[in-house]
Amino acid sequence: MKIKYVSRKKLYPAFGESDMKNQVAFVREDLPKIVKKFVRDHELYHLKDKSQNVLWREIKANIYSAIRHPLGSIITLIMSLQPYRIKLYIQRIKKGK
Ligand SMILES: [Zn+2]
Repeated sequence: MKIKYVSRKKLYPAFGESDMKNQVAFVREDLPKIVKKFVRDHELYHLKDKSQNVLWREIKANIYSAIRHPLGSIITLIMSLQPYRIKLYIQRIKKGK
C-alpha cells in the first residue's frame, strides 16, 4: 500500500481517493494536517476492505479512521459541509486572530 499526496485540482471536490487495483491511497495535499491524517487512514482502510456495499464501505472506513483521529474526523465532517469557510477559520486559529 502506498500513499500519494496530490493537488487539490486532481481530486476536488473529494478529499481523497483509493485505487484498489494499484493499492494507492490518494490524499489532497492542501488540506489541514489533521484532516490529511483522517483522510489517509480512511483511504488506506478502503484498500484492504473487500466488501462491495458502498455505504457500508464508507461507514467502516469512517469509523476506523475516526477512532484514530477523533478531531480530524469532526473537522473533515465540517469541511465537507463548508470547505472554504472552515479552511479560512482554521487558518485564522493558527494565526491567532
Ligand atoms: Zn471513502
